[in-house]
Amino acid sequence: MKIFYSIKDFIDHKLEINVFIPTMGNLHNGHMSLVEHAKKYSDNICVSVYVNEDQFTEKKDFESYPKSLEKDINMLKKSGATYLLLPKKDDINFFSKPFDIKLEPKNLTSDLCGKHRPGHFLAVIDILHRFFQIINPKHVLLGEKDFQQLIVINELIKICNYEINLISSPIIRDIKGLALSSRNNHLSEKEKIIARDIYKSLLLAKQMFNNNIPINEIIKEIHRIFDKSPIKLEYFTIRDSKTLQERNDSDLIALIAAYVGNIRLIDNIFIRSGT
Ligand code: AMP
Repeated sequence: MKIFYSIKDFIDHKLEINVFIPTMGNLHNGHMSLVEHAKKYSDNICVSVYVNEDQFTEKKDFESYPKSLEKDINMLKKSGATYLLLPKKDDINFFSKPFDIKLEPKNLTSDLCGKHRPGHFLAVIDILHRFFQIINPKHVLLGEKDFQQLIVINELIKICNYEINLISSPIIRDIKGLALSSRNNHLSEKEKIIARDIYKSLLLAKQMFNNNIPINEIIKEIHRIFDKSPIKLEYFTIRDSKTLQERNDSDLIALIAAYVGNIRLIDNIFIRSGT
């Protein structure tokens, strides 16, 4: 695996990247599953590790974001990634143009997580827009764990007419169902046990849907459950999984964001697809 610390060096190599996997490091098996998935498309895979300060609503969250570069490099070497890009902010800004904020798809970026994290998705759009200009990949591979991000980046590709194919990869969980996340490192063992209830609530929602319980009843019931829980619900909702707009009759996804202690976790589950 070749490591690039400078964008100039990366550009000078005139590489043709097939699959690009953006990450913020502190890699875990969820990230590794993306590399594994990418191998189905190509053995020319570029992973980036870059913690984008602008997408953090709280400065202290950015500062405390877990970093483990040496471990990340070892994991990526073993995974079969071809290139690793470790860029610096000034370098990225020098070699790319910003996203035109007038084009922000606010219907998507100011809803759900965006409602609670103003500016977050605009910053995500901006950094991916910059990476797309620099890397020019054929495919970009993102995890379904950050489902709204997936839909937002799909929109970025359309807005800017990028000829990039977006591939999504399923959520990897620990054996108790907790979705793997770099933020889990901040949870105590006790909090990790509590956090399992997030996935349990999604499974319950799916089961209720399969038992023909109306969607508004499901949403009320999940809220009732969390009212009595140490987990603080930010939102729980059921949406169209293609558009993230209010539910329709075919593709449905339940989405949740919740706090365990000070740690904000997100998760989701497909309730119904492709009818
Ligand atoms: P991050 O480093 O958190 O920005 O995540 C980088 C990529 O890994 C994103 O596309 C995430 O959706 C994906 N990802 C993070 N956690 C998981 C997981 N548990 N399963 C699958 N993909 C994940």
